[in-house]
Formats: sequence, C-alpha cells, structure tokens
Amino acid sequence: MWRSWVAKLGARERMTAIGNSAPLGFGLRTWEFWRERQYLARLSGVNEGFSFGAEQRSRRDSAQVIVLVIGESSRFDRWGLNGYARDTTPLLSKEKNLLSLSDLITSVSATRLSVPVILSRKPSRQSLNAGFSEKSLVSAFREAGYKTFWLSNQMSFGEFDTPISVFAREADVTRFFNLGGYADSPSHDDVLLAPLQAAIDDSAKKKLIVLHSLGSHWNYGQRYPKEFDRWQPSLFGSVNAAFTDLALKEALNNSYDNSVLYTDWFLSKVIDSLKRTNEVASMMYVADHGQSLYDGDCRIAFHGHNTQYEFHVPALVWFSNSYERVFPKKIRVLHQHRDSRLSTENVFHSLLDMADIRYPSEQLGWSFFSPHWTPHQRFVDSYGWTNYDDATMEGACREVIRRQETVPSD
Ligand SMILES: [Zn+2]
Repeated sequence: MWRSWVAKLGARERMTAIGNSAPLGFGLRTWEFWRERQYLARLSGVNEGFSFGAEQRSRRDSAQVIVLVIGESSRFDRWGLNGYARDTTPLLSKEKNLLSLSDLITSVSATRLSVPVILSRKPSRQSLNAGFSEKSLVSAFREAGYKTFWLSNQMSFGEFDTPISVFAREADVTRFFNLGGYADSPSHDDVLLAPLQAAIDDSAKKKLIVLHSLGSHWNYGQRYPKEFDRWQPSLFGSVNAAFTDLALKEALNNSYDNSVLYTDWFLSKVIDSLKRTNEVASMMYVADHGQSLYDGDCRIAFHGHNTQYEFHVPALVWFSNSYERVFPKKIRVLHQHRDSRLSTENVFHSLLDMADIRYPSEQLGWSFFSPHWTPHQRFVDSYGWTNYDDATMEGACREVIRRQETVPSD
C-alpha cells in the first residue's frame, strides 16, 4: 500500500513524503523528476497544433470575466455551508448568488493527476497517465477571444515540470507567486488578490482568470495568518510537523478547519472584486482532491489514499446579477443540478458552457449548465478503477471498495 501511495504523488510531493530518507530519496526524486520533464516536453510538441475551433457567438463584443479557482486538499464536509458543525464558511454562507454542488467527486487523490482532469477533456480513467493529447480549457477560451491569466500560489520550477504547468503555459499571462514550497511555506493565498485585481482591470473586454490556490495543503498551520487561527490547539506557525504523527490529531484537525476559514475569506475577496465590475461575471471553485484527517479510528491523514474523504470535494458557482440577467436559463438549470452526481470531468464542459462558448466537438451532456446534461458513470482510482456509485465505503477511513468485479470499458 505504501508503494502505490507514493506512486500517486508528484515528484515534489515525494520529496516531502520520502525525501528525507536519504540516500533512497535523492536518487529516486532526481530520476523521476527528469523522466517526467522529458515526457511532458515531448508531449507539448505533439499537441502544439491542436485547436478546439471555439468561438463565442452570443455577446461577442460584451465584457465578461470568468474566474476558475482550483482549490487544494479541501474536503466537502469541512465547509460550514455544506453542513459542518463548525462555521468554517461564515462569509460565503451569506452570499446570495452562490450555489454549492453537493455531490461532485474527483477521480484520483493527487494534485498532478487530478488537476488535468479539471482543466481538460482528459477522461478520469486516463488520469494516471502523464500528459494528454489535447490542450486545456485555457486554450479554448483564448480561441474564443478571451485574454487568459494563470495566477498560481503553487510552485513551478519550469515549463515542463508537471502536467499542470504545461496547461498553465497556455495562458496569455502565467505567473507563479509561491517562491517557498508546500510544507512549511507561509505563502498565503491572498498573494493572488492583487494580481487578480490587475487582471480584472486589464483593458481586454473578455477575461478568463485561473487561480491555482494552496488552500488546505499540508502543513495546514502554514496556510493562514494569525487572525484565522480560531480553533485551538493548532499547528499555527509550526515547522517540521509531520502528518504521520497521530499525536497531532487534534491540532491537525483544528488547523485544517482554520485553513478552510481562510479559504472562505479568500473566496469572498475574489467575489467582492467581481461584484465591483458590475459586469457579466462568474466564478467556479473546485478542489483537486480532499483529505484524510484521522477520522474516528482511522489512522491515516493527508491524501493519496482511497477514502471517500479524499474523493468528495467542495465545488461552488457564484454569478453576478448581470450574469443571471443575461443567462437566466443557465442559472435555472444549474439549480436543478445542485445535487446531481457530478465529477471533475464535468468542469471543462460546464465552464465553457457557462461562458456560452461553442465548439464543434462540444458535448453538452457533460455540462451542468445545460438541459442536455445526462448522468455518467463515476470512476475513482481506489484499488484499481472503481465505480464510485456502486461501491461501499468501508471502515472509519471510509475506503471506497468495489462492490462487484466489473471491468470498465472505454
Ligand atoms: Zn492537491
């Protein structure tokens, strides 16, 4: 189990997880990192000429701004607005034009594998393969006349470092703000707010802005400033804490909730910036995967495991009043799907449909803004591909276990 868990992690996450186990750590991470870079550089050349043929037929000359926030390590049931006993989302709970999707899952619990499924048409069951033969939604928006921004509080060493940075480089403007790291870096997500405002103020009429946040990534105690350190005892300011240390259970959980409280504030700021435009504006938030947090008697924390806590992610849509006036039908349909069985595979299709961008190969059956939406099977990488809706959630860890031996066909 330890081997398969390590395999799901990215090169840099492996550094955190096993990098200290020298000399094994150094040789492994150097080789893996080099191998992935070579592969992604090759792949980038292959899909250079790819095009969606995307265009916006309606409101071609009108202003519009769309923000996609990619959340990090956030789990559905720790958000107050999703019914959590602690009020971790006091600001978002007051937003009128905000809708939480109650049943959206990710197919795999590892950033570098799950984010590409959010951004592209990569099928979930291909998510374990590095790279993909198509470009991402960033390119589709560009083709449709949008100026595109990728603003990240995650790290990137270079253009071909991860499958995510390959997609990030499709944007007109790509900027990485985290110069520290994941584990003990105090680069809080508010570092993205000023660049976001600058992007919103850009003279281009239509804009897509992707914010790749650090959210609730371990070390949770480093994810928020002091004023959000509400639940105690916490890991606030701690360095070198280990998520494998069961003795930290209480502080780890409190800090996790504090990081969600900070995300609530961060997303409210994003929404405030969009409200001030008085334009047709909207925001979609979706987390890349959730997190195990020593639930009950469960003795695991972090991600890369096979638990429901890691597959069920929070997802939100916010829209301005102007957006609803222009696209009332989309909002009506969205409300109908708030409890539908969704997955990150729906995001590409839904975000483009939300902007009313059309392209010859579009499949509106995958868009939760479309009356043509149809349910699809949802597979998660849990001891092999497992049909999430035909699985049992076992034990305190709520491991997703296949109910019957079915081999999915493509
Ligand atoms: Zn992640």
